[in-house]
Amino acid sequence: MFRTENALILREVRFRESDRILTALTADAGKMTLAAHGALSKKSKIAAATQLLTYSELTLFEKNGRFAVREGITKEAFSGLRKDLKRFALGCYFAECLEQYAAEEQPEPELMQLGLNCLYALSEELRDSETVKSAFELRLMSIEGYAPSAEFCAACGRADIREPMFSPAEGQIVCRACRKTGGGLPLTESALEALRHVIHAPPKRMLAFRLPKEDGEKLAAVAEAWLLRCSERNFPTLTYYKNL
Ligand SMILES: [Zn+2]
Repeated sequence: MFRTENALILREVRFRESDRILTALTADAGKMTLAAHGALSKKSKIAAATQLLTYSELTLFEKNGRFAVREGITKEAFSGLRKDLKRFALGCYFAECLEQYAAEEQPEPELMQLGLNCLYALSEELRDSETVKSAFELRLMSIEGYAPSAEFCAACGRADIREPMFSPAEGQIVCRACRKTGGGLPLTESALEALRHVIHAPPKRMLAFRLPKEDGEKLAAVAEAWLLRCSERNFPTLTYYKNL
């Protein structure tokens, strides 16, 4: 039986001489495993559409619950990523995160939109890489139900949190003076505003914030610490990106 899916290729494993086994995110059916037979051969018509970090319309053939790619039309190749190893590596980290959180056999439109928007911003250099990374991490956690509680100080309840401190253990923000123990990651008031914006903005406005470099670095530390805390695992693609 044939069906068509719009798919973002999250991972590829080379198999036999010229096959690819793909993990893909689809808007309609979540995470899928796809066989792309012959995709690595020079003559293959599905080579381009089944490349890592490509968004394609794929025609799939289903047999006994397994899917094979028969045809592919590339919709977005994110070619900017392929000219820059560091940005490509960051794209691979986004893909590994999406693979971690996407469910199978259920629609994942929000994850798809997040992935496509962030890869596009990275590819076209609409924003600097660290800004896109922070926004991706915070928004992903928010979609998955792990938005940090950022509206009020968790101790005194005020909304205009003074010298905000983020605690990755609880996902809470308190005023520096309200902090009971040491530790925690410092935010600035504008970095906290940006964090709130990323969590609540409509998807297309998510990246519409500007921060001075120092505030951006504080937001980046918080976003990454929170994602790692919620995920309770390491991401090899993140380690690779940071070592570049
Ligand atoms: Zn307080």
